[in-house]
Amino acid sequence: MFRIDRNLTADELDKALRTDVAEGLTARPKQLPPKWFYDERGSALFEDITRLPEYYPTWAERSILETRADEIAEAAGAVALIELGSGSGVKTRLLLDAMRRHGGLSRFVPVDVSGEFLAASARPVADDYPGLDVHAVVGDFEQHLGLLPVSEGGRQLLAVLGSTIGNQEPGPRASFLRDIHSVLHSGTPCCSAPTS
Ligand code: SAH
Repeated sequence: MFRIDRNLTADELDKALRTDVAEGLTARPKQLPPKWFYDERGSALFEDITRLPEYYPTWAERSILETRADEIAEAAGAVALIELGSGSGVKTRLLLDAMRRHGGLSRFVPVDVSGEFLAASARPVADDYPGLDVHAVVGDFEQHLGLLPVSEGGRQLLAVLGSTIGNQEPGPRASFLRDIHSVLHSGTPCCSAPTS
C-alpha cells in the first residue's frame, strides 16, 4: 500500500525560501539551511555525487549496513521504520530487508522536503515489498515531526542516513535530536518548532 501526505505546498516553500534567503544572506557569516539544496534537480545532482568514488559517506555507510543491518534490526525489534531525509532510499532497502527477515515490519515512513523525488523513490518500495504500508510524508523535519504518522503499538526504528545530521549546525541539530526523542516516546510533547 502506498500513500503520501503533503505538509508543504509550493506557496509555503516559496515563502520559507524567501524568508531564509532574506535572513540568512544578511547574517554574518551568511548562511542558508541545507534543505534548499534539494529541489528535484538538486536531489538528482546529489544522487550523482553519491556515485563518485571520492564521496565516501555513501559507500562507507552502505558497507556498514551490509554487515550490520541484521544486528540493528534484531536489536531494534521494530514494526516500523521512519526515515528522515530519505532521498533515493537506496541504502534503506538494506534495513528494510533486515527488518523483514527479523519479522514484524509492517510500516515504512520516508520523510523528505523534496516532494517529487520522494514520491518517485517511495512508490516503488510499496511495489517491491508487498504487504508493507508505505506512508510517505513530504515535510520539513525541522518543523513537521509532530505530524508524522507514528505507530501506536510496537517499537519504531528511526533512521537518518547520509550526511543529513552532519549538515546541521550544533543548535538546530540539538533541537532535531530532542524532537526525535519526543517522536519516539509518545506522550512526550513534540516538538520544539511549530508543527504547522
Ligand atoms: N538519506 C539519503 C539522502 C541524504 S541527503 C542518503 O543517505 O543518500 C539529505 C536528504 O535530506 C535529502 O533528500 C534532502 O531533501 C533531505 N532534507 C534536507 N533537509 C531537510 C529538511 N529540513 N526536512 C526534510 N528533508 C530534508
